[in-house]
Amino acid sequence: MKRFHNIINGKRIVSRSNETVVSVNPATEKPIASFPKGTAQDVHSAINAAEKAAEEWSATPPPKRGQILLRAAQILRKEKQNLGRLVTMEMGKVLPEGLGDVQESIDMLEYASGEGRRLFGHTTTSELPDKVAITLRSHVGVMGLITPWNFPTAIPAWKLAPCLVCGNTAVFKPASDTPLCALKMVELLERAGLPKGVVNFVTGSGGVVGAEIVRNKKIRGISFTGSREVGEFVVKNAGIKKIGLELGGKNGIIVMDDADLGMAVDGIVFGAYGTTGQRCTATSRVIVHRKVRQKLERVLTARIKKLRLGNGLKQSTDVGPLINKAAVEKVHEYTRIGLEEDGARLVTGGKPAKVGGKGFFYRPTLFTNVTPDMRIAQEEIFGPTLGMIEVKNLDEAVDAMNSVSYGLSAAIYTNRIRNAMVLLWTVYRSGKFPFMHSSAPADKETAFDWKRGETIRTPASYWGVNVHLNSKRRKEMRSKMNLKGVGFCFLFVLLASLLTAGTGCGLSMDEERAMLDAERDVEQMQSELSIGGFGVFAFDMDQCIEDCKEDNENDGTIENLQVYCETRCKFREIFGGLNGANTVAY
Ligand code: NAD
Repeated sequence: MKRFHNIINGKRIVSRSNETVVSVNPATEKPIASFPKGTAQDVHSAINAAEKAAEEWSATPPPKRGQILLRAAQILRKEKQNLGRLVTMEMGKVLPEGLGDVQESIDMLEYASGEGRRLFGHTTTSELPDKVAITLRSHVGVMGLITPWNFPTAIPAWKLAPCLVCGNTAVFKPASDTPLCALKMVELLERAGLPKGVVNFVTGSGGVVGAEIVRNKKIRGISFTGSREVGEFVVKNAGIKKIGLELGGKNGIIVMDDADLGMAVDGIVFGAYGTTGQRCTATSRVIVHRKVRQKLERVLTARIKKLRLGNGLKQSTDVGPLINKAAVEKVHEYTRIGLEEDGARLVTGGKPAKVGGKGFFYRPTLFTNVTPDMRIAQEEIFGPTLGMIEVKNLDEAVDAMNSVSYGLSAAIYTNRIRNAMVLLWTVYRSGKFPFMHSSAPADKETAFDWKRGETIRTPASYWGVNVHLNSKRRKEMRSKMNLKGVGFCFLFVLLASLLTAGTGCGLSMDEERAMLDAERDVEQMQSELSIGGFGVFAFDMDQCIEDCKEDNENDGTIENLQVYCETRCKFREIFGGLNGANTVAY
C-alpha cells in the first residue's frame, strides 16, 4: 500500500505524529493508501508556509492566477477517466457519477479562472463634494479549507479554485475517507504551475487538524463543507474570521395529482438513491398528493426493487456502497427509528448488505405512512432512505416541505405552472430551500447561500468568491479618508425586481416597506463594522425577528407585523451577506 505525506511549502513532509490513517475502498473493504494522522504542529508549519507564500501570490495579477486554474482544468480534462475511477474506488459512487464529480471540478476550475478577469469593485456617488467613493475587493489572507468525502474532487475544487483566484493562500484539510482524491487535486495545481506554499495539504482527524485550522488566529477565513454539528463547532470556535459554511440538508420532492408520474419516479430515484443518498441535496422526503399516492408507491417500489447494488466500477451497478461501516450503522439505526419510534411502514429495503461477501452496502429503502414530524422526516440520514408523506393539497404539501428545521433543495412535479410558482414563492419565503431541484446537480452558475443556519455562503456562481474576498470600502476626499459604507440601491432594486419578476407575485405594502427599512439596517450595520479588523458572521434570524417585533409593535401603519419582520430580517441577512456587511469589513 502506498504511503503519502503532507505537502508543506511544496515538500512532502512526514507528520510529527508518525501515525497514519488509511483510506479504504468501501465496495471491497481493501485499503487504498495511507496518509499522515496530522498534528497541530503540522498545521502550524502549513500556516507558516502559507503566510510566506502570501505576499507574492496576492501580488500576482488575478488573470495570471486564473490562467493557472485554466491550465489545471485542461490537464484534468485529459485525466478525467483515471480520476473518475479513483473517485469510485475511494468514495464508492458509481462510475458515471465519479466522472461527474471530476467534470464538476473541471467546470469549477474553468469558472473560477474567469473570475480572475472579473473581480470587480464598485464605485458610487458620495454625499459630499470632491469625494470619490470606491469599494475594492481583495484577498482575505490564509484560508482554512475543510472538505467532506462525498464529492471528493468536486468539493476541493469548489474551495480551492475561488480561494486561489482571489489571491489567498491556503491550508487544506480533506476528509479522512477520501484523502487520495483530494491529494490528486493539489498535485494537479502544482503541475499547472501553482507556486510552492500557496496550497498546503494536511491530513488527519477533524478533532485535531480540523479544530486547529478553525481556531488558529493566523487563519483569516474558513471555507467549510460538512455536517451541521461540525459547522456549529466552526461558528463557535473560529473567533474573528470570515466564514463560509455548506452544511446538511433535508430535501423534498412534491408530486401533485396532475404530475407525469414516470418523470417523477425518474427524478425521485436519482434524487434519493444516486450517490447512495449521500448528497447534501439528496431527496429524503417525497410529499405526494393523496390521489396518486398508491400509484406512485406501486411504481416507485417496483423501480427500487430493481436497483442493483454493487461495485461502482461495474456497469451493471445502480447503487454503490455507503462510505464506511459507521455510515451503515447510522442508516440502519434510522430504519429502527422509523419502525419503532416513528411507527412508519417499511415498504422495501431496511437492511445492510454485502456484495461478494464484502462492502458497506445498504438496501435502497422506502418508508410510507410518514408524517412531517417524524424523526426520519426531520433528520439528515445521509443514506438511501426515502420517506413518503401523503398530503391533501398543495398547501399541505408546502407546509410539509417547510416543516424541517433545515432544508436545501426542493422540487415539485406538476403540470400546472401555478403550483410551481406557489412552491417557488413559499419556499423562498421560508428561506430554507435555495436549490429548486433536489434531483438535479448543482450549477456553478447559481448561488445557494440564503439558507439560515445551513449553507450560508455559496461556493459557486458569481457570489462564490465572496467568502474569499474582503470588501475594502473607501470614500476618499482629497486629503481625508472616511470609512462609511457603500450604497445598496442597485442591489436592492435588482433583488426586488428579480424576486417580483421571477415569481409573478407583487410585494405587499408591508414587504416593500420592510425591504426599504432593511436597506437602512444594513447601512447602519456597515457603518458600525467599518472600523477595526474583521467582523464575524453572527446573524441570528430569530433574534432579529423578535427585536423587530418588539421595536415595531406599536406602529399602527404595519398591517402584518410577522410578515413585515420576517421580510425585513430576511433582506437584512441577504443584503448583509452579499455585501459583506455582517461578515467582514475593514
Ligand atoms: P463532517 O462534518 O463529519 O466532516 C467534514 C470535514 O470536517 C471533514 O474533513 C472532517 O474531518 C472535518 N471535521 C470534523 N470535525 C471537525 C472539527 N471539530 N473541526 C474542524 N473540522 C472537523 O461531514 P462529512 O461526514 O465528511 O460529510 C457529510 C456532511 O456534509 C453531510 O451533512 C452533508 O449534507 C454535508 N455536505 C454539505 C454540502 C453542501 O454544499 N451544503 C455538500 C456536501 C456535503
